[in-house]
This record gives sequence, structure tokens and C-alpha cells, in this order.
Amino acid sequence: MDHVTGLRCTVCGHDYGVSEAMYTCPACGEAATLDVQYDYDLLKSRVLRDEIASDPQGWMWRYRALLPVEPGSAPPPLTVGGTPLYPAPRLAADLGLRSLWVKDEGRNPTASLKDRASAMAVVKAQEFGASLITTASTGNAAAALAGVTASVGMPALIFVPETAPPAKIAQLLVYGAKVILVKGTYDQAFDLCFAASQANGWYCRNTGINPYVGEGKKTAAYEVAEALGWDAPDVLATSVGDGSIIGGQYKGFYDLLQLGWIERMPRLIGVQAEGSAALYTAWRDGIDPVAMQPIDAHTIADSISAGLPRDRVKAMQAVRASGGAYVSVSDEEILAAIPHLAQSTGVFAEPAGAAALAGLRKAVDAGLVEPGERVALLATGSGLKDITSARKSVGDAVTVEPALDAVYAAVDAMGV
Ligand SMILES: *Cc1c(COP(=O)(O)O)cnc(C)c1O
Ligand SMILES: [Zn+2]
Repeated sequence: MDHVTGLRCTVCGHDYGVSEAMYTCPACGEAATLDVQYDYDLLKSRVLRDEIASDPQGWMWRYRALLPVEPGSAPPPLTVGGTPLYPAPRLAADLGLRSLWVKDEGRNPTASLKDRASAMAVVKAQEFGASLITTASTGNAAAALAGVTASVGMPALIFVPETAPPAKIAQLLVYGAKVILVKGTYDQAFDLCFAASQANGWYCRNTGINPYVGEGKKTAAYEVAEALGWDAPDVLATSVGDGSIIGGQYKGFYDLLQLGWIERMPRLIGVQAEGSAALYTAWRDGIDPVAMQPIDAHTIADSISAGLPRDRVKAMQAVRASGGAYVSVSDEEILAAIPHLAQSTGVFAEPAGAAALAGLRKAVDAGLVEPGERVALLATGSGLKDITSARKSVGDAVTVEPALDAVYAAVDAMGV
């Protein structure tokens, strides 16, 4: 792993060797996520953009030469990444944009972008010789960890709030993870998980604590750039809970810029739910992410419900350094975006995925995105993850007696 030069504290800037620090900066504490550092000159001389493009396997590991893994480490067998980036001309027209693409991260093996992070974390756990890997999650990170660990036969211990959507809990149990349902919030589950992992020497995948998960998530940005012929979009919109996805997208585009594979950074638009908008508020009010205080988070978009975003330092940096913006959207706007996205692109997203669309619309209306700009949107998770919310976003179907005249009456009523 000679292309990885160390781990840098995002708060004090201190550099640690890769074996000197495991989780956050020992000097600065939990807000201070470490950032993996690369020798870009070495990578430039070693990795060619066109060689990557000729790799026939469409998964995140096509970029493995750029990733912080040992050359001898075997990736987990599940096909994580390589998700489609769809042109969305009808959605673009609805928003008043010229070019819009939607990346369907629901196509990952456990149906969310979190598979990228969990696949990376499992490789690191194996490299560290861990016998057990643990995480706290609002649901998707856990489902992803359960799926990836199942694929390699590693035990996983999962902490989720007992209010997580049933489909996500079902995934955990079906994959055979050991599941602890916490009678409390995600934030409480998170603290319990980290404390238990520290006390027992388990490898902890927690977002914002583990420096490698964002390095997995950044492969979505690589794929966006590659799919657009290495002509990065002007803007990328994604929803934000802990802030690890948006931090990862920034890192991905930053890497590509250092390598000279793209020419400029996209502006990142982070979308938060109104009831869980800690980063939006801090960004708007110019508050230092280290000084942020926990809020009581409530939103229908469970995947972006985070009272104190764990990757807040990277998340704030991603938006500030890229010249982007945070926006916040109501639960009603999130729900309305589910059928809007589905009906204009064929991509069925869970509330947190559709939130990116609701936020992009707001950003366009507020003049944060210009009509002529090229915009990519991450649909971060599948709509099948949360059927209850999906059903709230649409009307009911008609029920008929099994008779043709009843069918015709219904068809007339529907205006077919
Ligand atoms: C985790 C998740 C998010 C938010 O990612 P953060 O890194 O917590 O900001 C958004 N959408 C989905 C579907 C997720 O699972
Ligand atoms: Zn520090």
C-alpha cells in the first residue's frame, strides 16, 4: 500500500502513519475524522485512466489501484458499484435544467450506496485480522455490512434503532448478522456500538469514526466522472445525514483532479431533511462543524436522520471547498419526490434517495444551480427499503369485482 502515505486529522491537520491511528484523531476526539492521504505522483505514474476504462468488470474494485487496500487483499465477491448513471431528460425539463443524470445506487447488492463503504470496511477488517466487525446504522450501512460479511463468512454485530424500517431489519436477520435493536436513537446506537467495539477490540465500521468508509463511497464519484467521459458534472446533488457520502464524493472528485483525470471539481449540493438539518443550519450560520451541538432529529427519511452528523467536518468541507450549498426540504417535499423521480426516470428511491431530487429542485429555484449546468444526482437507496413511506407518497389503487364491466368502469374513472 505504498500509495497511501498516512491519515490526516481533518481538524488539527496532524499526520499519522496508517498503523498509528485506527479511528478518529487521538488528540482532537470524535469530531476529527481522519482523511486517507495518497501519493498522487506515484499513482499518476502507475495508474492509467484508459486502462481502468478497459476493465470489463463493472464494480468499484476496477479502481482498486487507487484505493487504500493492500495489493494482495481479495475484494468481497459481491458486485458492489458499477451502478448505472441514467440521462434524465424529462426530469431535467421539469426542473428547468438542460442536462441531468441520475445514478441509481439502489442497484447495489443490498440496495444502497452503503455497500461501497461496507465492502471497503470488510477488506480493512480482514487486513487488520479482526475476528468480528460491528457497526451502528440507521439501517442501510448495517444491511450492507450484513450482506458483505455474509459473502465472505465474517461475523457481524449490528446496532440499529428499533424504529428502523422493517425491510432493513429483515435484511440483517436474513444475512445472519447478530442484531441489537436499540430502544433509542441512531445517535445512541452509535455511541453504544463504538464503546463496545473499543472495549472488546472489534473492528468498528461506524460512519465518521472509521477513516476508510468514505474511501469506499468515493467510488461513486469516480463512476460518475468515468460515465461522463471524465468530464465532471458542474453540480452533484446528494442527500446528507452523517455527511459521509457527500464527503466521499468530494474526495473522489478531488482524487481525480489531483490525478489530472478531470479538469475541475463539481459543486456539491447537500440535501438535508428539515427535521434533521444540523449541517444545513451550521452552513447557513457559518458555524464551525467542530462546535456543532446535537439536535433532536425527526424525518421520514430515516437514512438521513442524524442529530449530530458524525462526518460533519468532511461534510462541511465538501460543500465549502467546492463552492456548493446545503438546502433543506420538508418531509412532504421528500415524499412527493419519490413518485416524481420514479415516474420521470424509472428509478424508485427510498425517501433519503428522493430527498436529493427535492433538494435539487429547491437549489434550482433558489438560483444555486444555473439552467445550463450539467447536474448529477445520487439516488442513494432503493424504494423497496421503505414501502410504508412509498405508499404514503401515492394514492391507492382501484379494486374491482372480477368482471369486465367493472374493469371498464374503473378504466373510465382513471381516464385511460
Ligand atoms: C446513509 C444514507 C444517506 C446519507 O449518507 P450520510 O453519509 O449519512 O450523509 C443517504 N441516503 C441513503 C439511502 C443512505 O443509506
Ligand atoms: Zn487532530
